Amino acid sequence: MTQTIKLSDPRLFRQHAYVGGKWTYGDGGREEAVTNPANGEVLGHIPWLEPDQIRAAVDAAEGAFANWRALRVDERCERLLAWHDLLLENREDLAILMTHEQGKPLPDARGEVEYGASFIRWFAEEGKRTFGQTIPSHIPNAALGTIKEPVGIAALITPWNFPLAMITRKAAAAMAAGCPVIVKPAGETPFTALALAELAERASIPAGIFNVVLGDAPQVSEVLCAEERIKALSFTGSTRVGRLLLEQSANSVKRVSLELGGNAPFIVGPDVDPKEAAFAAVSAKFQTGGQDCLAADRILVHESVHDAFVEHFAERMAALTVGNGLDSEIDLGPLIHGKAVEKAMGIVDDAISQGATLVAGDQSQAPGPNYFMPVLLTGVTPSMSVWREENFSPVAGITAYSTDDQALEMANDTEYGLAAYVYTHDIRRIWKMLRGLEYGMVAVNSVKMTGAPIPFGGVKQSGLGREGGTAGIEEFLETKYYCLGALGSVSGS
Ligand code: NAP
Repeated sequence: MTQTIKLSDPRLFRQHAYVGGKWTYGDGGREEAVTNPANGEVLGHIPWLEPDQIRAAVDAAEGAFANWRALRVDERCERLLAWHDLLLENREDLAILMTHEQGKPLPDARGEVEYGASFIRWFAEEGKRTFGQTIPSHIPNAALGTIKEPVGIAALITPWNFPLAMITRKAAAAMAAGCPVIVKPAGETPFTALALAELAERASIPAGIFNVVLGDAPQVSEVLCAEERIKALSFTGSTRVGRLLLEQSANSVKRVSLELGGNAPFIVGPDVDPKEAAFAAVSAKFQTGGQDCLAADRILVHESVHDAFVEHFAERMAALTVGNGLDSEIDLGPLIHGKAVEKAMGIVDDAISQGATLVAGDQSQAPGPNYFMPVLLTGVTPSMSVWREENFSPVAGITAYSTDDQALEMANDTEYGLAAYVYTHDIRRIWKMLRGLEYGMVAVNSVKMTGAPIPFGGVKQSGLGREGGTAGIEEFLETKYYCLGALGSVSGS
């Protein structure tokens, strides 16, 4: 079959799992088609591995662990940096792959390759700084301290919205800490993950250290969660699946970190330029077509600037272009599949039926079945699903508030607690919001908040643990305490 995705290096397009350094078919012979969300075209097929093959990946990781952890830290760093460099050298091919399977505009995909590579560089270096402590001793003639050790094999389960960066944010931290990883990418976006495996091999990452398994998600996860040899599970995805995996990992008592859904508030104070704030809100809402855990889903605008804000928001939103991410000048690609379009439609209908106003969003203009034109709703209320649910679509909901306390109460009125945005120049309001918002991350007067050095993560039902930054590598390290007794206790001394 001719390859649909045209790459400068066709060997980056892999249609097998990658286990113990080998490209692997499924023993059961089952294959699944992967399609382009922009037009439904079949891009290729992936095998579904059988449970025994998932266990074989654990065997491979176990076999590779001792040598990887024993490597000098600067040697591990060099291998990871070689992987990082290969990602950047192949940036265009990786971006093309990603846009085909995920749908995001090509410039965004290029940006994600750089963002994803930045985690590898950062953690490669951070691996050198996994220091233990010296503890002033309360025990006579003893030296006390801690050393850091890799936790062991890590299973990484990732979503489709950031097919590359959600893998490297976990894998680079684990591998820098000395752990082998078994990645289970989303079924919609396996090819980017497999290209990462190809590049890991070229970077001389030893066989068994970076594995990619594919298959029926509940079945694969069940094996990974039950496996006692897997010591850490790091998941990014929906809160529903996160809860399930936490439960399934209880018997094997794993370290579990969860990066789950968000429902970010965007609070606009009375003292800001409504145009500046509206343009920022459009950017925070429509990144990745709204299919982003950081998307500004609930926009709360002070009543004194509400009307002007809505006007500028609508104007900016009207300029967004929707189409195939491979075409030039596209802001929003397709949604990931038809179910996502149905969900978005349902959310809009529900809001209108409960009294919200549809300011803009004409679906007859959508360029294809998986596309959803950006929607602006005003007068949204907490009883609407646009408020309660993570909508994961280009549907923006705006509501007015009158006091800071009211804005805070409304912003916190959700089970989620990933990220929040605040626009205001009043230092007392900034501080009040910063302290009062029940979120893991708060961006003030900025829509850019992520990056390799920061502790990314949420509170409440948005997750457990942190990724990125010094906290990110700790998720894959154990602290071993030591007490060295009998120091200087030679008789007579
Ligand atoms: P999802 O449905 O939870 O899927 C995520 C991963 O879990 C995929 O690999 C999926 O595999 C697997 N999975 C699905 N059902 C499963 C089951 N019953 N048992 C075990 N594994 C299962 O999430 P998604 O739709 O891909 O991603 C969107 C979600 O991710 C949103 O909620 C978003 O907020 C969240 N997210 C969070 C962050 C963060 O950093 N906090 C970042 C990005 C995305 P298959 O694809 O093969 O089914």
